[in-house]
Amino acid sequence: MSDAAIRTILIAGGGTAGWMAAAALSVAFQPHQCRIVLVESDEIGTVGVGEATIPPIQLFNKILGIDEREFVRATQGSFKLGIEFVGWLREGQRYFHPFGRYGDDFGLTAFHQQWLRAQTLGSTTPLDGYSLNHQAAYRGRFEIPTPQSNPVFSTFSWAYHFDAGLYARYLRGFAERRGVERVEGKIAEVVLRPGDGFVDRLILGDGRALEAELFLDCTGFRGLITEALGTGYEEWTHWLPCDRALAVPCARVADPVPYTRATARQAGWQWRIPLQHRTGNGHVYCSGAISDDAAAATLLANLDGAPEADPRMLRFTTGRRRKAWNRNCIALGLASGFLEPLESTSIHLIQTGISKLLSWFPDRHCDPLLAAEYNRLVDAEMESIRDFLILHYQANERDEPFWRQCAAMPIPDTLAAKIEMFRANGRLIERPHDLFHPTSWLAVLLGQGVAPAAHDPLADTVPPEELAAVLGGMRHVIDQAAARMSTHQQFIDRNCRAA
Ligand code: FAD
Repeated sequence: MSDAAIRTILIAGGGTAGWMAAAALSVAFQPHQCRIVLVESDEIGTVGVGEATIPPIQLFNKILGIDEREFVRATQGSFKLGIEFVGWLREGQRYFHPFGRYGDDFGLTAFHQQWLRAQTLGSTTPLDGYSLNHQAAYRGRFEIPTPQSNPVFSTFSWAYHFDAGLYARYLRGFAERRGVERVEGKIAEVVLRPGDGFVDRLILGDGRALEAELFLDCTGFRGLITEALGTGYEEWTHWLPCDRALAVPCARVADPVPYTRATARQAGWQWRIPLQHRTGNGHVYCSGAISDDAAAATLLANLDGAPEADPRMLRFTTGRRRKAWNRNCIALGLASGFLEPLESTSIHLIQTGISKLLSWFPDRHCDPLLAAEYNRLVDAEMESIRDFLILHYQANERDEPFWRQCAAMPIPDTLAAKIEMFRANGRLIERPHDLFHPTSWLAVLLGQGVAPAAHDPLADTVPPEELAAVLGGMRHVIDQAAARMSTHQQFIDRNCRAA
């Protein structure tokens, strides 16, 4: 290794971000190549929320060699096939954002263009009829495909719900077994080097100094190192106006359903995340539009089991750090910004932050070119997620002042272009850094009432009888595959029941 190679990486913070980074780096480096040290404070604790994920987390587990069933068991986890949105367009309406694809493309166009055409020919089958994820989710069913599974399973995908505290503990065990050193202590000071302003060391409350060449700021909303470096924050509250959440677990009253529920409320929305041992709930709201007491009352009035604690408040400002990588420090997790919990993207952003860091890993000089490219990629990814989230708020027909204000807000041009195109002809604009695939955009656009005026003319090249036969066949196969799955609870009992 060259003399400039990084010999010590210091991870500040041991929440989900810190331990995910520690676990991944412990796989990337042998202990003799690079020391990985993580400092955290039991006294401060973690944010303790973040229980829902999206499918790419499977890849993170695979790279780390984590056994899926052991991981679900250790975290009291359950499986997530998508998100049910209740009341987002208007009271009483609901739609489902499935993680797997709708149908299979055929003819010269995307599947949904054939579906749009079939609607013009009189078909009444909803798009959900062609989603194996949807059909399984609403029957409470789940199965992990095997090589022998019906080929329709190629359209199926899943993620997890888990207990955030148990997840950090699981990753900590994983990382420590691979040589990551944990230091317990409270960071009191960040010392910068004179001259280039790089981070030199962290000083703990008891006077210990922790030195490294590369620092990862995983200190949550505090963003301790990032703040010390004077990295600014870009607010997105004019697009994503919620700024508080109340979280409360409640007793489990039924078998867990394999999906998250997000229900629109007067000035925000409520999540419901079923785990094996309890149900996670939270009310995300805009403090300018509803009082904390009223928000708490709404949350507590809409639980399906007895609350297991008092609601805990979390305050946040939606937006991002102006530079996720600044000098020799990379901010991960909440320290790098927060969009809001809708669509469960924060843990994913930690994962992609780590993977980008490994792609653009520096030596101790931390070439600004590497940082610039890393920041460009992070910015593009966050902007794409931001647009997707804004769509849920802006395209609504609800009556409350909060929702009317959301409907009237000016939106980014990038999102306006996607909506305009879809409304005109059902085509979905894809951008290189889009985290969410066309299926996700399609589900939310239609769910939020954006109806295409026309379909792709190339869909008309399939004769109507053939169209009806292919769609009917697909529907049948999907229906049969969903009906044959075990129930979600049976699957958990057989494979990953927590002690
Ligand atoms: P934290 O969990 O806050 O960890 C910070 C760490 O830094 C802790 O170990 C703390 O002790 C340490 N620390 C801080 N200051 C010091 C100090 N001075 N000295 C030493 N140590 C220190 N994400 C999802 O993907 N899905 C979801 O469903 C989801 N829901 C969410 C709901 C809400 C209401 C919120 C607010 C967030 C949600 N998130 C979700 C985001 C998710 O919780 C976070 O991305 C994830 O938990 C990572 O947090 P973190 O590790 O960055 O911060």
